[in-house]
Amino acid sequence: MDALPPASPPDPSGQPCHGGRETFDAAARAAGKTEVMDQLMKDYPRGPHDQPQSMCPAFGSLRVGLRMRRVATILSGSACCVYGLTFTSHFYGAKRTVGYVPFNSETLVTGKLFEDIRDAVHETAKPEDYDAVVVTNLCVPTASGVPLELLPKEINGVRIIGIDVPGFGVPTHAEAKDVLTGAMLRYARNEAEQGPVARPRNHSDEARNICLVGELFPADPVGIGQILAPMGLAAGAQAPCREWRDLYSALDSVAVAALHPFYTASVREFRAAGRNVVGSGPVGVEGTAAWIEAIGIAAGVPETQREAARQAVLPAIRAVLAANPINARITVSGYEGSELLVARLLIEAGAEVPYVGTACPRTEWSAADAEWLKAQGCHVQYRASLEQDLAAMKEAKPDLALGTTPLVQKAKEMGIPALYFTNMVSARPLFSIAGAGSMAGIVAAQTKGRERFSRMVSFFEGVGTPDGAGYGFREKPVDPPGFRDRQRKLRAAKAKAEEAVGT
Ligand code: SF4
Repeated sequence: MDALPPASPPDPSGQPCHGGRETFDAAARAAGKTEVMDQLMKDYPRGPHDQPQSMCPAFGSLRVGLRMRRVATILSGSACCVYGLTFTSHFYGAKRTVGYVPFNSETLVTGKLFEDIRDAVHETAKPEDYDAVVVTNLCVPTASGVPLELLPKEINGVRIIGIDVPGFGVPTHAEAKDVLTGAMLRYARNEAEQGPVARPRNHSDEARNICLVGELFPADPVGIGQILAPMGLAAGAQAPCREWRDLYSALDSVAVAALHPFYTASVREFRAAGRNVVGSGPVGVEGTAAWIEAIGIAAGVPETQREAARQAVLPAIRAVLAANPINARITVSGYEGSELLVARLLIEAGAEVPYVGTACPRTEWSAADAEWLKAQGCHVQYRASLEQDLAAMKEAKPDLALGTTPLVQKAKEMGIPALYFTNMVSARPLFSIAGAGSMAGIVAAQTKGRERFSRMVSFFEGVGTPDGAGYGFREKPVDPPGFRDRQRKLRAAKAKAEEAVGT
């Protein structure tokens, strides 16, 4: 792909939803959060665009906590943010209570908010109900320096985890998952270093487990387990975990597979526990071969067993790819972190993928995928903005666009078949033999509909677009004579007047 346009802020006012990153960042530092902000900046380097450009990043950490057994979640933030976050959680089927400590200007300024949070934590931390309580500072409490680090570390055996997940410090909801996962791993590692800890369910002292990092489709750990078996390894705990004691199991692995490449804080904890961490994932023939080699070496597996693993799965993956060819030009965009792996799989299945954009940052765990994709002529855009994804789609004119909601909407307006990455692509296996055949059917079904899309676009031509939208039109709406011209002159006059007073 050629040069992409520079990204612009998501909001016409130039401010993301928290009202200005620099202002909030400066406020947080002045309020004593310098260390927190420095760590966030280091772990999650910024990209070309301001954020959030999609949903509130804190949704990522909220979801990780809500998916864990015996973990309570308390949010501290503006009511509107908490409304949006709880709404989204329940929309995605959380079925769990989200605690909230409200505040007003007075409780924020006097420090009473912190006392209210402390009271809420004491009230919630009942060992018969919970292993841990997670308290999350959203934008305003982070910027105001609400000191969650002063909360007790533990109440009656219930662990207390305080995290700051401000939209002006954590660029995507993907990386917010890492904020909580990393904080929990750190806590669990300290516990394990100090003495015996609870035995993880189904723990076997003999098993040589590989910890899988990333929220995976349920069939994927099974497929990965098949790849690992000939090497005497097994798919172990996943991080983010489903219950507290799984954290010990994750830390106890022989090596770690960073299948999703944005878990920087979590990897820090695995490395502190002495674990080797391997990037990329077993996608397609080449991806799986390279991954077997890397994970086998990381786990100290001899070459004969690595070769046995290759022989056990590569012919089957090759056969499935050959039986399910993809003959289409596809652009890939998303914020899940698996975009590069999906693009690799599509290319191995025969697709032409000229562009892959991910909202996640460049990290060492996706470096091999980026190199491989570049060698296939694919443009890889880290920290891609919506504007860059749209520009790439317009230029590439794909048969199918995989992307986020606004991209899919735009694609449909243009008559391009499109699929929502989160619901359609992430909701099917990606790795090993099952992954090899998972995309072909859906791509074929969508690209076949292209002609239908073109008919729809020509049928609705000019209707429902911004100034023709609304109820009650019987015919195609017609502009009042001279309307556009008058508006253009008014805009020009306004711009001139503003220039004259130097604003
Ligand atoms: S917490 Fe921050 S980023 Fe999230 S919705 Fe509120 S203002 Fe926006």
